[in-house]
Amino acid sequence: MRLFYLDESGNPEINGPSGSYVLAAVGLPIDRWTTCDKAINQLKASHYLGSTEIHTAWMLRSYNEQLAIPSFDKLDITQRRAAVLRIREQKIELYKKHKSPQALKSLKKIYKNTDAYIHLTFEERKRFINELATKIKSWTFLRLFGEVIDKNNYHPPKPSITPQAQAFERIVSRIEKYLSHISLETKEYGLLIHDECESVAAAHVSKMKQYHIRGTFRSRVDHIIETPLFVSSSHTNMVQIADLCAYILRRYYDSGDQPLYDTIKTRIDKLGPEIVGLNHYTNNKACTCEICRKKRLKRTSSYRLS
Ligand SMILES: [Zn+2]
Repeated sequence: MRLFYLDESGNPEINGPSGSYVLAAVGLPIDRWTTCDKAINQLKASHYLGSTEIHTAWMLRSYNEQLAIPSFDKLDITQRRAAVLRIREQKIELYKKHKSPQALKSLKKIYKNTDAYIHLTFEERKRFINELATKIKSWTFLRLFGEVIDKNNYHPPKPSITPQAQAFERIVSRIEKYLSHISLETKEYGLLIHDECESVAAAHVSKMKQYHIRGTFRSRVDHIIETPLFVSSSHTNMVQIADLCAYILRRYYDSGDQPLYDTIKTRIDKLGPEIVGLNHYTNNKACTCEICRKKRLKRTSSYRLS
């Protein structure tokens, strides 16, 4: 039995901000869950993060208030937090007087989502994320699956398919194939655990019920049980790991951020030497990413053979 934790990165709306939408899944045998959960908690404790949720995109922002505090890195944890909060309170008062309610709301949202990390410098936050990625690399029993949708070049066969639905269908097919490959003497089952998200919950549950009856576009589904379970990422370390992997894949495709991608790359599912757990869905025929180059090479060689 394996658990597969799913989370997304990027805006799924076609008409929303440009760039990629990513759905990632990390799978592990249930008897390894305690090892991972303990290791994540230990790493959090070593960075004074307690039981804080790790939301990578918020953690890896530059916080202007820290830049405005002289010798911020020389202060202790309590002093850093107090100094940042002082500036933030002043800024909220300024926004109340001089900015629109919408601008104030956006500012408060940023402060709320970054509050748990303000005691760490930008360098310390980056180091924490690097250490977490290195931990993922060391978990050889873990498999990573990712569907990266290039929204700028998204022309699915059925135009009504949203990037979220497309990504989910492909991830389910990929996990099903993986489970069928590792089911040697005994059949391996998988259960999907998704970050709770109102906009996708009903759609994914309904899709999964259809897959159990008719299969996906690509395969039958008889190794994945149940409909996805939806949990709060704030209480579930492994969903936070899926969030980190989705973030790393999106940054790799949208901004060319290579080092973190290289760290977790060995965990992407492979069939022999070939990466099969990551797909780049794009109609850009000139994409030079590793996945697209290999797909083109395969098409060319099968054309030559035929
Ligand atoms: Zn590509």
